[in-house]
Amino acid sequence: MSVRDQDDALHALARENQTLLDTVLVGIVFVRERVMLRCNRRFEEIFGYAPNELDGRSTRVLYPDDAGFQYGGSPYAALAQGATHQREQILMRKDGSTFWCRLYGRAMDAAQPHLGSVWLFEDVSERKAEELAVRSLVLEQQAILDNASAGIAFLKDRVILRCNRRFGEMLGYPPEELLQRGTRFMYPSEKAWRDAAYVYPVLARGEAHAREEQLMRHDGSLFWCRLTGRAVDAAHPEQESVWLFEDVTEQRAAREDLELRVRERTAELARSNERLLAEMAERQLVENRVRHLANHDELTGLPNRRLLLDRLAQALALARRAEEQLAVMFLDLDRFKTINDSLGHAVGDALLRGVAQRIVGIVREGDTVARIGGDEFVILLPRIESGTQASVVAAKVMETLAQPLRLEGHELHVTASVGIAVFPSDGETPETLLRNADSAMYHAKEAGRDNHQFFAAQMNVTAQQRLELENDLHHALQRNELFLHYQPRIDLGLGRLVGVEALVRWHHPRRGVLHPGAFIALAEETGLITRVGEWVLREVCRQLLDWQRQGLPTFPVAVNLSPRQFGQRHIAERIGEILLETGVPSSLIELEITETSLMQHTEQTLGTLSRLHKMGLKLAIDDFGIGYSSLSYLKRFPVDQLKIDQSFVRDIGADPANAAIVSAIATLAHNLRLQVVAEGVETGEQLDAVRLAGCGQAQGFLFSRPVAPEEVPALALQRWSADAR
Ligand code: C2E
Ligand code: MG
Ligand code: MG
Repeated sequence: MSVRDQDDALHALARENQTLLDTVLVGIVFVRERVMLRCNRRFEEIFGYAPNELDGRSTRVLYPDDAGFQYGGSPYAALAQGATHQREQILMRKDGSTFWCRLYGRAMDAAQPHLGSVWLFEDVSERKAEELAVRSLVLEQQAILDNASAGIAFLKDRVILRCNRRFGEMLGYPPEELLQRGTRFMYPSEKAWRDAAYVYPVLARGEAHAREEQLMRHDGSLFWCRLTGRAVDAAHPEQESVWLFEDVTEQRAAREDLELRVRERTAELARSNERLLAEMAERQLVENRVRHLANHDELTGLPNRRLLLDRLAQALALARRAEEQLAVMFLDLDRFKTINDSLGHAVGDALLRGVAQRIVGIVREGDTVARIGGDEFVILLPRIESGTQASVVAAKVMETLAQPLRLEGHELHVTASVGIAVFPSDGETPETLLRNADSAMYHAKEAGRDNHQFFAAQMNVTAQQRLELENDLHHALQRNELFLHYQPRIDLGLGRLVGVEALVRWHHPRRGVLHPGAFIALAEETGLITRVGEWVLREVCRQLLDWQRQGLPTFPVAVNLSPRQFGQRHIAERIGEILLETGVPSSLIELEITETSLMQHTEQTLGTLSRLHKMGLKLAIDDFGIGYSSLSYLKRFPVDQLKIDQSFVRDIGADPANAAIVSAIATLAHNLRLQVVAEGVETGEQLDAVRLAGCGQAQGFLFSRPVAPEEVPALALQRWSADAR
């Protein structure tokens, strides 16, 4: 090859090299003594210079500061040894901006280092930035993982790929040791581990999963762990799962403790509730008992007086509204004291209980049986048709008591005395009814025990007794058992007898002498009163004639007419007939009619009175003052005399009101030109008082009791002193 050819070849090679230099993507520069001799276009571009602008300039311009320039000079010694140098450094562009650059350098000829070195520059800013970002991300992530209070592990096929420090701590292993390990080690048993596998299909479906499970530490101890897992990549759930492990041992202990405490507290509450309920129940029982005791008799369990009065008050209110009758029966055992004293209190108590039981056994449901004292019982019959009904109950009570009671080896026969008071006739208040039933009971005792008595005399006669008495009364008339006593009426001014009152008596074959209180009511009820009344009138007439024959001064005789008699349609005619028959002048007969019977039949009464008056009979109003007759009313009756009721006279000295009433009656009587007779005068004081009140005449034991007819003549002739004593 010729020299020319060789030159051409060299030039061609040089051009090729230049082209090559210019087309490569790295900057290339030849440096000698830190001066840039030549560079390719890429080098100029990297640093932002125009073509050839850098030729012959110091490399100082490539560095942002002197320190960088100095550092850039450090590898030359090594290059002189033939080494290749590479580094990354921050360099500066023409416009002052900096960037990361990768540099490779070597000597052009290691044998002759002074000839210079060649350098390759690569702008690595972008890669560097990326790298830094990645680095910080990784660091950040690790920091997060490591600082997490929960253990975190990434698993695949139940093998640990990554985990944080806490995960290792929790299980007692250095975290590195756990990498690539299967999860079996953290389960207390093979079975527990296998059972836990059920969760993977759940994760595979893309769902999160959480559970609490006992895991085992390195040292074999167990702890409660809450596991929360999910697939890392929802698109590929089978790939990797991430798990959060939280030690919940304390939480669970706290929860269990809390549950335990709640359970204990609940149990305690339940217990105290029960206690409270029991206490309340007990208190209720005590209260009931106290209330029961307050209202009941301890021995028999029967209502006591207090409850009885209560029920009686209620029953009275009802009876009043319904206009019904009720009965209060007072029952007292006969000779109970003897039984109690001789056989002992235990037997006495048992007897009272037995009696209580028997009485309760025969009364009706609405009736009340109460024990109000030792051997005193009260039976309240809240609704009765008539007194007879009470009498039937009393008979039943006595019948049941008549059955012998066997008590502690004794056979006891008890009887009782029963007193009955009926509302409204015997009282309107509980107290009055009880008191009256009590006093009726005393009458029963007096009548020989083992019987019952009504408070009202007329009620005392039971159907049986009434029949008997009625029968007896028939006979009395036939057998002449009735007789009359006479009581003088004294004129206080004259001091002598001005009349007598005929009072009937019955010489009963078995019961002795009976006073009108014992049979007049019965005679009235049975209608026998008509015959009795006629007998009395005839007897009075006969007696008058007898006294006349004896030559006694004439005085009128007063005859009592009971309401029923007075109510008879032809009473005036009957009396007229008798007077005619006997031949006694009507002026010698006075008729006494009670105020109450006058009030009962007004028009008819008026007619009867007028007829009698016309016939010449004198008329007196008996027992005046208790019937509350209106005084103007009195004017209509042709009466001649007022007989002031004994009750006013009895305590005329003690009660100024009575004196006033007597005085008022006397004044009225004078105005109506009526005689005033004070009845029942027994003492001198009473006499003074009635005289002072204005009574002209008087009758009473002070002067004389009712006496037999034989005694009357003497009295008729007797003179009472001016002051009547
Ligand atoms: P009366 O007509 O008011 O008779 C007076 C009654 O008072 C009599 O009672 C008499 O014994 C009594 N008495 C008289 N003075 C005194 C006294 O100073 N103190 C007291 N405590 N009492 C005295 P007796 O005889 O028991 O008669 C009672 C009632 O029976 C009579 O009350 C009269 O309403 C009625 N009665 C008497 N006889 C007959 C009669 O033949 N026919 C009728 N229908 N009734 C008669
Ligand atoms: Mg009378
Ligand atoms: Mg009278």
